[in-house]
Amino acid sequence: MFRYIIISLVFAAAACAQNTPKEEIRMNDAKKEESIKTRVKKSEQEWQMCLTPEQYKVLREKGTERAFTGKYYNFKKEGIYKCAACGNALFSSTEKYDSGTGWPSFWDALEENAVLTRPDTSYGMVRTEIVCGNCGSHLGHVFEDGPPPTGLRYCVNSLSLDFEERKKEK
Ligand SMILES: [Zn+2]
Repeated sequence: MFRYIIISLVFAAAACAQNTPKEEIRMNDAKKEESIKTRVKKSEQEWQMCLTPEQYKVLREKGTERAFTGKYYNFKKEGIYKCAACGNALFSSTEKYDSGTGWPSFWDALEENAVLTRPDTSYGMVRTEIVCGNCGSHLGHVFEDGPPPTGLRYCVNSLSLDFEERKKEK
């Protein structure tokens, strides 16, 4: 029994490393990814080991943090926002703006494939979900009521993000 626990822990630690090789994809995971093709594939058990319960609920179960409670909605430092699940660079402070909604809002993603979209008809609403282009984790939704030049509002959960401050040039 003890040996089994040790092996499980070693496996879980290895699973938390980024860029899990594709060979590790299991059938049930492939089904859950639906039509989104992403590079990082992990079982839900592996994700649970890597994330806090709050992060897991948002990133893997499409939860939404309460407005005005996240750590980044009123956050103005310069830098890059990364996926809290896999570290993929998603948004820049350059495109961040105060939407007044209580969630971090951006009018554009960092790069074209950093963030992917898919239709979401849950809760009787027609919305466009946004997921990490690298691992498929849930980030939030994108709406068409943002500012110029894109007119888009990427509405993101703080729990889905990790911030990396831009180093000041000397
Ligand atoms: Zn990710």
